[in-house]
Amino acid sequence: MEQTDKSKPYRRDLPVRDDEIDNSFKYEIANQVGGEGLLHCLKCGACSGGCPVSAVIDYRPRKVLGNVLLGMKDEVLASESIWLCAACFTCEERCVQQVNFTDVVTVLRNMASREGNAAPGYVKMAEMVMKNGRVTARTSSVDRMREKLGLPPIQDPDVEQLGKIMKAGGLVKVIEANKKKEDDAK
Ligand code: SF4
Ligand code: SF4
Repeated sequence: MEQTDKSKPYRRDLPVRDDEIDNSFKYEIANQVGGEGLLHCLKCGACSGGCPVSAVIDYRPRKVLGNVLLGMKDEVLASESIWLCAACFTCEERCVQQVNFTDVVTVLRNMASREGNAAPGYVKMAEMVMKNGRVTARTSSVDRMREKLGLPPIQDPDVEQLGKIMKAGGLVKVIEANKKKEDDAK
């Protein structure tokens, strides 16, 4: 993944070369749940204008969409930007074309994860769920608070069952692929 100095505008080598373009990329996304609206994007930029994380990402929503439509598969799937979306849905509210960019981001994250490009924090969270059934530890203060409020105690999840479901759904393989890529990069 190309590292970006956030104090400077993002720049890459131009023009884009033919061998960087995968013309089927946009259809791959449009054929998945959440990606259906992609091909209607006008690249008007209304999504970028309202995006609260635009100031700190190398690719704003319009740029991600432009690169997706152009077929820059490797670059988009290696981009840090797709992992910094806060899922606030402002882009979806502003979009006149119902592209549903937040959902497109989910599709991109899934594709990036399968290639071992998931953000490390997300891999850690998935591991925590696999090991403990939750992403945060259960604390005695929460237990006491629930008791005080008259709420039932938190039930511990069946981690064995959860592991089986994660394995059957392919998530264990995705975690392993991402950890291997992380180790290889050290
Ligand atoms: S996703 Fe919608 S708001 Fe964003 S550039 Fe495309 S058409 Fe415009
Ligand atoms: S959902 Fe993500 S991309 Fe859309 S405006 Fe919010 S932070 Fe930006």
